Amino acid sequence: MYLKDFTYHKPQTLIEACRILEQCNNGSPIAGGTDILVELKKGLRQNEEIVSLMEIKELKTINENGSELIIGSCATHNEVLKSSLVKKIIPALSEAASKIGTDQIRNTGTIGGNLCTGASCCDMAPILIALNASVEIVSSTSKRVVSLKDFFIFHKETSIKKGELMTKIIVPIPQSNVGTSFEKFGLRETASISVASVCVSITSDGNICTDSSIVIGAVAPTPRMSKKGSEILNGKKINELAKDSALLKSIGETVVKDSLPVDDLRGSAEFRRQLVNVLTQRAVVKAAKRSINYLIE
Ligand SMILES: Cc1cc2nc3c(=O)[nH]c(=O)nc-3n(C[C@H](O)[C@H](O)[C@H](O)COP(=O)(O)OP(=O)(O)OC[C@H]3O[C@@H](n4cnc5c(N)ncnc54)[C@H](O)[C@@H]3O)c2cc1C
Repeated sequence: MYLKDFTYHKPQTLIEACRILEQCNNGSPIAGGTDILVELKKGLRQNEEIVSLMEIKELKTINENGSELIIGSCATHNEVLKSSLVKKIIPALSEAASKIGTDQIRNTGTIGGNLCTGASCCDMAPILIALNASVEIVSSTSKRVVSLKDFFIFHKETSIKKGELMTKIIVPIPQSNVGTSFEKFGLRETASISVASVCVSITSDGNICTDSSIVIGAVAPTPRMSKKGSEILNGKKINELAKDSALLKSIGETVVKDSLPVDDLRGSAEFRRQLVNVLTQRAVVKAAKRSINYLIE
């Protein structure tokens, strides 16, 4: 399998990149290339023009502004994982990035590429949705901010339009009483695409779960929130969650009802349902414990 010829552009600025994408008939941006190059090689897509984003320095920064963590779309997974700022402000995000691929993939693949691929199994989506993140999308003439929960339209379909680029991922900085846990199951320990994944984020007030967010990945055409699962969790006593297996089971079973899994080469729909149930219970216990860590520290 050989790559077909294409014209490769290496713009130095965002506006230049957007203009090239607007003007070409069949162009696509490339960040780390770990998804798009595989698809081009397999003939799953044809692009005559490829626009590299990796020379655009502003897309690689990781900053905070007091209330939000702002991650450039071209920050690699290892840059997110190793960032002292991310580790300090949202350690669970660093942990989620560590579960992607291998070091080679994490050194090259980017957080923006992960989201823009629009695959239902992309590992950064569940945690970013659970943390209420949004993304900035720009063209040469416009700029808009889209909540990540509205960004995914269908498998491999996002709200990005021709000539637009994702520039930033904006994550509200969680308070110390928020605990988050991302759990995934792949067919190998590493370098494994999620067969199912779950992220749970819990806000506690003393010993009570006052708010929560549960997001499932790889078990529907897009990552999905389970509002019904959260409804059961909210109001429960944090220190009893881990001991109450009936309650955990009922949360797990409720979240499963929000999934729409398919049979494929990685697993059957039924296997995925069971995974969602188990991963949800694990993530609830971990997130609950983390949400009260600040009382112990
Ligand atoms: C061996 C292997 C293991 C993997 N393991 C995992 C895993 O465990 N978990 C996981 O989630 N994924 C995994 N992946 C998939 C992939 O590595 C990730 O999705 C990665 O984050 C993609 O980022 P990238 O920068 O390489 O994207 P690219 O391949 O460069 O781009 C992907 C898509 O996004 C578009 N795009 C990229 N950046 C932008 C932007 N800023 N604005 C608009 N559009 C953009 C491109 O046009 C393309 O359509 C794996 C891949 C391989 C090959």
